[in-house]
Amino acid sequence: MQTAPAYAMPIPGHIDPVPVPRALVLRSDGRIDLLGLSKLDLRMALETSQLDPKQAKLRAKQLWHWIYNRGVTDFSLMTDISKTMQPWLEQRFTISRPQVVEAQVSTDGTRKWLLRTDDGNDYEMVFIPDADRGTLCVSSQVGCTLNCRFCHTGTMRLVRNLSPSEIVGQVMLARDALGEWPSQPEGRMLTNIVMMGMGEPLYNFDNVRDGLKIVMDGDGIGLSRRRITLSTSGVVPLMARAGEEISVNLAVSLHAVTNEIRDEIVPINRKYKLEEVLQACADYPGANNARRITFEYVMLKDKNDSDADARELVRLLKFYDLPAKVNLIPFNPWPGAPYECSTPERIKAFSNIVFDAGISAPVRTPRGRDIDAACGQLKTASEKKTRAELDRLAEEKQAALG
Ligand code: SAH
Ligand code: SF4
Repeated sequence: MQTAPAYAMPIPGHIDPVPVPRALVLRSDGRIDLLGLSKLDLRMALETSQLDPKQAKLRAKQLWHWIYNRGVTDFSLMTDISKTMQPWLEQRFTISRPQVVEAQVSTDGTRKWLLRTDDGNDYEMVFIPDADRGTLCVSSQVGCTLNCRFCHTGTMRLVRNLSPSEIVGQVMLARDALGEWPSQPEGRMLTNIVMMGMGEPLYNFDNVRDGLKIVMDGDGIGLSRRRITLSTSGVVPLMARAGEEISVNLAVSLHAVTNEIRDEIVPINRKYKLEEVLQACADYPGANNARRITFEYVMLKDKNDSDADARELVRLLKFYDLPAKVNLIPFNPWPGAPYECSTPERIKAFSNIVFDAGISAPVRTPRGRDIDAACGQLKTASEKKTRAELDRLAEEKQAALG
């Protein structure tokens, strides 16, 4: 066997990503979904359907505008595409939206949608309106492979990555519901996106990156990367890549200041230790005082909420010299959760210690609790039914045992 000469060996380390077309997926009706395709893939989809490259380039540009700037899903409304071309497109392509199973509105204005994928998996998205902004909380997975002990999503059995189409589809659907087409730079209701719905976004890296790139594209939705935040439980090996390839704001679910407690409540800590997570934050490209890293900290009674914990948090953030802000999240309970929320006084005392050290530490007001839309409460209705069935089975078993 011939070995490659040393100079031809691949260079270890970062290699600039070269755009490579994804394999196009045919839907059950034989058509290709254009939503979620990159600009290159959109052009390729047209070329594969026998348009010559020049035509494909032009049509791809027009389609991109109709899809992401105008929010149009019907080819017959695309007025600059000829009347003969429209049915040709219709036969081969579709512009999808996630199927809405249920839409709920909280007394505080928060909205939650239960969505369904084509293959029957349910996931959720939440819109949180505020006086000066509107934040869409987007899911990256159906369920989550990690099982943080305080998080309801972590108890879901079914897990599947969402595709770029399903990720972008959430933003498209929210804008449909808010009547935000065509895309305008000013006066939007949906101003911010947080990848804080169901799932661990860094365990679905490629799809999250490709979906967010479409959301940020200036010819379409055009949401600035400064208005997008990706939250991770601390998948250390992918944090640098997130900074380089997506370069959105980073939020890290810290939740504890010792490995012992973090091992218990955020089990991924057994793999990537607290110190490694903080070092990855210190190395995060683009983090500075103008673009701070958010540290999320769920307040669990007698678990992580003492004055000593607050002081240790300050020490760690200073030790790693992190441009940080801390978000204190009162624990949102769910049936069977093994923790209680800290008292408001405790949360206030904790916040004051961090704040007195010069680090912003607001207490997040829970939103949409009445419709189970608050942090960590996302678990789909269909899964809840499964759980109810399981509970009934358990009761029957118990009864049989006498
Ligand atoms: N998987 C990612 C993003 C989704 S969770 C992550 O863990 O960062 C979004 C935030 O809600 C995380 O900080 C998560 O720890 C927090 N959270 C989960 N369950 C919660 C609960 N029951 N009460 C309050 N916050 C919770
Ligand atoms: Fe997954 Fe985040 Fe919930 Fe942990 S907190 S189980 S990482 S969704």
